[in-house]
Amino acid sequence: MADELARAFAVLVEDTLRRCDQATKDLEELERAYGRGVQDRSYRTYMSALQLVTQTTRLFITERGDAFVPQTDPELRSSIYELVRSVAATMPAELEGQIQLLRLPRSEELGVFAAPMTRLANKLISNAEVLFFPWTAFEGYRLETYSGDRAERLAPGNKDNLERAYGEDIQFLQLRHPSPRRTDLFQHAVFAHELAHAAIRQPLPPDLAQMLPSPAPGQPQPSYASAAAGSAPAGLPESAETLLEWYTELACDVVGMRLIGPAFLVAFAEVTAANRSVEGGDKFRTHPAPEVRFRVLQEEVERFSLRGYQDDVQAALDHFSRSHEGTHAQPTPSPQAREWLDEALAEFRGPRLRRLLARAEYSPATLQKDLPHVLRLANAGIPPAERITGFDTASSDHKDGDEWSKEIDWRSILNGVLFRYLRDWGAPEIGSDRRRPEARREAVRLAMGGIELSEFQRQARAFRTQVHDLRLNKEWAP
Ligand SMILES: [Zn+2]
Repeated sequence: MADELARAFAVLVEDTLRRCDQATKDLEELERAYGRGVQDRSYRTYMSALQLVTQTTRLFITERGDAFVPQTDPELRSSIYELVRSVAATMPAELEGQIQLLRLPRSEELGVFAAPMTRLANKLISNAEVLFFPWTAFEGYRLETYSGDRAERLAPGNKDNLERAYGEDIQFLQLRHPSPRRTDLFQHAVFAHELAHAAIRQPLPPDLAQMLPSPAPGQPQPSYASAAAGSAPAGLPESAETLLEWYTELACDVVGMRLIGPAFLVAFAEVTAANRSVEGGDKFRTHPAPEVRFRVLQEEVERFSLRGYQDDVQAALDHFSRSHEGTHAQPTPSPQAREWLDEALAEFRGPRLRRLLARAEYSPATLQKDLPHVLRLANAGIPPAERITGFDTASSDHKDGDEWSKEIDWRSILNGVLFRYLRDWGAPEIGSDRRRPEARREAVRLAMGGIELSEFQRQARAFRTQVHDLRLNKEWAP
């Protein structure tokens, strides 16, 4: 009996170690295949994190193997067997599947988007890396998070090792998207909603948490998302749980709009259109009814004050924010539920939202300032990327070491180029001009070129600051 288990165990251990070795080899191969560019940085970090996970897991199995040999207690022997078997069973989800995600083709458009999106995530969420992975057979957008806790499911010690190497609370945020939608840069704006999900599950800063009733012993500190839980009413047609899910979605829409600007509304309208039917269902879902979501989005668009200033663009945006009408995805919330959602959202939009977005908000003022410049360049067919700030050394007081130009906020580029497309081509209409798709692709190319160049500019400025002090004095010249 005991010998039989030893035989089975030997086969299991050898096979699992071989899989670990394969994972190491695959990761090394991937590391060579990925570039050195800034847009690849998060992916490279993820690969080295998975290497560490593989090593820790391999060591765990080897040690269990060594512990098994001298063991005579049948119960302990089977528990060691079970430990290794559970590692082997968890490997597809927590290790091998992750490596496969890194193999999926990545579009250039997402590569361009990765660097500014990571920067945005870093301003919102402590210690996060952002990765984009396509679904091959799923139409939705979703955030999946790989963290120390998930690695720990694979083998004990992984969480500690990962957090020692990459910092406490390291999170790899995987923005999953439908594969066919990878090339339309404007639709990538919806990723901001997914980032918002990661942002609002963070705990509230202590001074804001203090304003809420203190949590019962053993209960976690309130997060931005759960702060509204206490006030959710009972006895409505909708459960308190549903109300809180709706509130979370709406809060993420607000954050998405404030991170990206009006382009978020267009992306949202386009990618969710397929989810709404004329008949609709009769069940409450985790997402609030479209009329509720679009009303909130419309409120957020109004903050950018485009009326009387960009009327053509505003008309197109109005079209998108009414694009749910005539469809019924699900029942309308009860009046009491609406009332509570309004109140909870108003509360969220106060000090909590200001604190959350302190360094990340795309403000209406920035859009107003950048828009004329972006439109001027885009009209001339030039990818809008920078704003020249210094012109002539001799006649101006421009000092050596001053900046000559500064990159434009990438969200101004995204919104500005999209606005130009909307101004020229309007919102979709049945039977509208057949040249629209090509015009849209052209707009994508222009926005992409602009964002890419603005990233180069940003890096060049950072690099210049670094090398400035290294320049040799004239006396040292040969
Ligand atoms: Zn959501």
